[in-house]
Amino acid sequence: MKVTIVGCSGSFPGPDSPSSCYLLEAEGFRMLLDFGNGSLGALQRHIGLYDVDAICLSHLHADHCLDMCSYHVVRTYSPQGPHPRVPVHAPADAPRRLGRAYDMPAEPGMETSFDFAPLAPGTFEVGPFRVTAAPMNHPVETYGFRVSYGGRSVAYSADTGETDELVRLAAGADLLLCEASFPDVPGLPADLHLTGRQAAEHAARAGAGALVLTHLVPWHDPARILADASRAGFPGRMELARSGAVYDLG
Ligand SMILES: [Zn+2]
Ligand SMILES: [Zn+2]
Repeated sequence: MKVTIVGCSGSFPGPDSPSSCYLLEAEGFRMLLDFGNGSLGALQRHIGLYDVDAICLSHLHADHCLDMCSYHVVRTYSPQGPHPRVPVHAPADAPRRLGRAYDMPAEPGMETSFDFAPLAPGTFEVGPFRVTAAPMNHPVETYGFRVSYGGRSVAYSADTGETDELVRLAAGADLLLCEASFPDVPGLPADLHLTGRQAAEHAARAGAGALVLTHLVPWHDPARILADASRAGFPGRMELARSGAVYDLG
């Protein structure tokens, strides 16, 4: 399984990265975790424009789903189109939410280009991957994902505050892509996002093999986030996410 960070900027795109989007590949199958604003552009550095085989959306905040609107244009109006519908696992409100974002009529809506399946906690198959969705601690319906293939696994926190669900989801994972939106300062809002320190604590409790700190918000210094995380006692390899970084999980 090959994991490519397409976008890792938190909450809005930054100068060096689009918003959240991760590309997972195995057996020639290509699946996206999230499709945040700006990510369709960077995605084309890694795969062909029409090569997305499945999409999982963690939640419907703009920085995790808005390029679904752009990709609807690609699938529907390209010179060779329309292209077959792409399976999309997303919160149940996704067709209405994305149709509103695009400003299209309710019928036929986004269903012409995407085949939506509502997410619920549990495990399901997507192409060659086994995907587990677990509820995260965020103000809207949000799922973290664990994706397994060939005995290796990657976990993705999506957006979340502190939660044991993330520790369970990432237990023993080879790689944890964990959000680290906040510097470790007093008075942070609860049940919203993690600090670098909290991300590393969750990774340590989960026994993850490696930690990538992601959802890095451009108004914070990433070096501060990494320094906070490095004090939390996580024994494995740890680094900041970077658009274009590739992890080959064998
Ligand atoms: Zn976000
Ligand atoms: Zn969010």
